[in-house]
Amino acid sequence: MTKKWSIASAACALLTILTLAGCYVPVNFPELVDVPQSARVVLPARYRIIGRSVQRRPITCLVFGTGPDVTFIMATIHGNEPAGTPLVRRMATYLRQHPEILDGRRVVLLRTSNPDGMVYNSRYNAHGVDLNRNFEAANRLNTKQSGPRALSEPEARVIRQIILEYKPNRIVSIHQPLACIDYDGPGQPLANRMGQYCSLPVKKLGARPGSLGSYAGVTLGIPIITFEMLRADSQLDAEALWRKYGKSLLAAIVYPNAV
Ligand SMILES: [Zn+2]
Repeated sequence: MTKKWSIASAACALLTILTLAGCYVPVNFPELVDVPQSARVVLPARYRIIGRSVQRRPITCLVFGTGPDVTFIMATIHGNEPAGTPLVRRMATYLRQHPEILDGRRVVLLRTSNPDGMVYNSRYNAHGVDLNRNFEAANRLNTKQSGPRALSEPEARVIRQIILEYKPNRIVSIHQPLACIDYDGPGQPLANRMGQYCSLPVKKLGARPGSLGSYAGVTLGIPIITFEMLRADSQLDAEALWRKYGKSLLAAIVYPNAV
């Protein structure tokens, strides 16, 4: 083995150890290669494998900024509602190109909350559980699709871990296809603000048993938005999704300031 190759192997092994240990490693997503190098220097994002799905797919989050005002944006907790994933990926590109928005703020992005369900185009995880019914909440039901107990599913535990660790001031969970901005807990003013920047109406759907909205909004008291896009939004590419909904998501990040 040449010296060059042994150095490369050692670096690769170190990176693998850090990743397996759950440590932060610098992000280098292929989809972000168009971002100028200068932006990466100004704004190093943190890429973290925070857990794994039932079928051992990595669940990764991206963390931008270090400020005290924290927004957590997540997508595709229901695997057959996939349009939020390219939208959140596009938001990561925006944040890299506009680091000024992160002054005093931190943004945590979870692009795919249910990676197994997304592969199978299924609402549920690989155990057949609706992750958005698997949280600790007073209204949780013990049904087959809610899981045998609260937080029985690794994907739900990952989401809870992110909330407990980063202590977000507000949460946005992106769904389809109900075409509205729903909220739980003290989320109505945030919902109204986000509604000013897209065509979705604000609508209170009601707290679903054991949902993330019930857990984060009602149990923990964190303003949480269930951002319900259209079914047809699955046909749009990331740029079209960004044009349609990007400002509304940015409104959540800079809240209570205007975009
Ligand atoms: Zn959904």
